[in-house]
Order: sequence, then structure tokens, then C-alpha cells
Amino acid sequence: MNFDFTDEQKMLRESVRNFIERECKPELMRKFDLERIYPTEILAKMAPLGWYSAFTPVEHGGQGLGPMELAIMSEEVARFSPSIATGYYMAIWGVLNIAKHGSPAHKDYYLPRVNEGRQTFSFSMTEPDSGSDAASLRTRAVLEGDEWVINGEKVFSTQAAAPNNTIILCARTDTSSTKHKGISLLFVPHDAKGLTMTRLTTMSRRMLGNYALSFENVRVPRDAVLGEPGQGWSYIVDHLERERMTVAASCVGFAKQTFAEIVDYLRQRKQFGKALGEFQAIQHTIADLKVALDCAEMLVYKVAWMLERGIPCNTEAAECKLFCTETQVKIAFEGMRLLGGYGLTEDFGMARAFREGMGAVTGGGTSNIQRNIIARNILRGN
Ligand SMILES: Cc1cc2nc3c(=O)[nH]c(=O)nc-3n(C[C@H](O)[C@H](O)[C@H](O)COP(=O)(O)OP(=O)(O)OC[C@H]3O[C@@H](n4cnc5c(N)ncnc54)[C@H](O)[C@@H]3O)c2cc1C
Repeated sequence: MNFDFTDEQKMLRESVRNFIERECKPELMRKFDLERIYPTEILAKMAPLGWYSAFTPVEHGGQGLGPMELAIMSEEVARFSPSIATGYYMAIWGVLNIAKHGSPAHKDYYLPRVNEGRQTFSFSMTEPDSGSDAASLRTRAVLEGDEWVINGEKVFSTQAAAPNNTIILCARTDTSSTKHKGISLLFVPHDAKGLTMTRLTTMSRRMLGNYALSFENVRVPRDAVLGEPGQGWSYIVDHLERERMTVAASCVGFAKQTFAEIVDYLRQRKQFGKALGEFQAIQHTIADLKVALDCAEMLVYKVAWMLERGIPCNTEAAECKLFCTETQVKIAFEGMRLLGGYGLTEDFGMARAFREGMGAVTGGGTSNIQRNIIARNILRGN
């Protein structure tokens, strides 16, 4: 493996970092989080910089960048808030899926809109009775004439009510088959008639919002299906490694900032006549956190490197999601301890880092699900 970044990649990192340091100051991110303010303006400012077109194929007006750039951007955009990164990369996930599986009409409609910052996406798979066992979903879309009629319930959909959002909905279109077969991905406008959204009070992703969705005879056109009807599960699986790497990279970016905040505090804060950082017990914790952070970073760029070369990385992507999300939580949790009472206030970044970290641990397949994938692959000799 060679993780030498090209000059262009270094410049990309630098320019993203500059924008995020200017526009996403920690105090502002704290306010957006606590007051549950959707970051419309910040996300809109990314469009003229070409961030939304970064991963769109060149023939559709984009720059056609690859997994290494996706890792770099996800890490840097998340520096002060993984919710900002999630708001950004959910649009990019939509682009990657449409570019790969969409019809010419879908590409012509959605890709220019994303490029110009006029379109985002959310993804609705989880249901009240179908979480980790995602393929057991029961939401149905039945073809009636030239329309799909959708009925069912979804839960935890991140940023489903965002302005300019289109929901990518997982629904069963072939009701004779159960589990993985017969699932399709449908584009549903967030303001579709018959769709009711209820905001949940989750502790993470508070600026984006998590929503319960109720579909009651919601109608979308026949061509609102991404790719082939019934092939939705294969498209989800096809995208999983990129998705896991993106989430993991954002955890590394945010964890680096949390770690820097902890170190800064330990240098300043004095007890028993010396800085907290001079106590050996505290130094050992700091050393352990630094090792974990460096390992997490290596896993992200290892998976990006494998994706770039088309090397199968199902196990590595699961390892990466597991370790990086858990590391973000570990750093935030130890940070709460190391900052004493101040670590538990919202004036410092630890509590928010912990809340956001738990969102990453749980969303997109929990840690146990990643462990299941890793162990299954090892035991089957994959
Ligand atoms: C902040 C946040 C954002 C989210 N965003 C989205 C979104 O945008 N779209 C969407 O569709 N969903 C989203 N989700 C839902 C998320 O994907 C699910 O919460 C997750 O997959 C777990 O499902 P569940 O909550 O039903 O828990 P369950 O599946 O009921 O699991 C409960 C516990 O049991 C464990 N468990 C379950 N099965 C096994 C097993 N076979 N082996 C070992 N342990 C097991 C799990 O690890 C977990 O600890 C989000 C969730 C959160 C918290």
C-alpha cells in the first residue's frame, strides 16, 4: 500500500479544511446541534466550490473523483461536525448510486441538480420491526397502472425533511418474495401526498433530524424506480463498502478534533499544582487514544486505497466502520472523563462528540453487525 497523497489531493484537503475552519466554527456547530438548526446555508455554499459535482461523472458535468478523494473530503468536512459531513455525503451517495444504476432520464434530472446544490437525498430502509435484519422490511410498493402505490412505515431516516430532499426508499415491490429478493429503491419527494413525517428526539444528528415516515397510498410514477425493479438489495450491497468508508472517515476527522481539544485542556488545567497532562495515569490514556486514532486513520485510507483499485474489501470496510466509529466514541467518552465536570457540559465538545459518535456506531449497521460480517468472512475463508 502507498498512501502518498498527490499534490491535487493535498490541495483538496487544504481547501476543504480552510472552508470548514471558516464556516463551521465549533461554537456555531454547537448552536446548530443544540437548537436543531438544519445547516442550509453552509451546505449551499459548498456548491460553487464544486464539492457536489466532485464525484459526478465527467460526462454529467462533474469531476469524476474517486474513493481516495471521498475519504479526504469526508474526513475534513466532518472536522467540527459529523452532521455537516452527513448532510454533504448523503447527496454524494445519491450521485454514486444514480451514476451507476440510474436510467438516462434519472441521470439527466438528478445529477445537474446535485452539481448545482439544488438537490439532496436521504435513505429510508429501517422500519419499526426491521432494523439490523434490514431485508425483512415490509413497506410495499404496488404497481397500479403507471404508478407505484406505497404503504408502510419507516423510522430513523436522517434528514428526510431537508429542503430539496428526495427520499431513496427501500420498498418491497415483489410481495411474493421475502427477504433480499423483490426489494426496490424508489425516489419519493419529501413532500409527496400521503407521506407524514414525525421528527424524533434522537441524541445524534440533531441538526439534520431523524424522522419516522408513514406512507399512506403515496403515489410515484412507474419510472421512479432506481435501476431494475427487484434489484434494490444488490444495489445497496454494491454501495456498502463506500458508505462504510465514508462514515469511518468522518469519524476520524471529528475524532482528531476532539482529541486536540482534550490535549489542549490537559495542558491548561492545573490540579495539585501541576497540569493534568503531567499525571502519568492521564498520559497513558492519551497514549492509548492516539494509537487508536492512528489505527483508525490507517484503516480508512487502506479501504480507500483498495476501493480505488477495485480490490474486494468487504471485511476491511466492516473493520473500518467498526473500529473508526467505536474509536470516535472511545475518544469522546474518555474526553468526558478527562475534562471532569466540564466534560459533561455542552460548553466543551465532549458530550456532543459522544452523542454524534453513537449515531455513527448505530446507523448504517451496528458494531455487532460489522463483527458478524468480519467473522462470517473469516470463517468462510473469504
Ligand atoms: C443517528 C441515526 C441515524 C440513522 N439514520 C438512518 C437512515 O438515514 N436511514 C435508515 O434507514 N436508518 C437509519 N438509522 C437506523 C439504523 O440503521 C438502525 O437503528 C440500525 O440498523 C439498528 O437497527 P435497530 O435500531 O432496529 O436495532 P436492532 O436491530 O433491534 O438491534 C438492537 C441491538 O441488537 C444487536 N443485534 C441485532 N441483531 C444482531 C445479531 N444478529 N447479532 C448480534 N447483535 C445483533 C444490535 O447490534 C443492537 O445492539 C439511523 C439510526 C440512528 C441512531
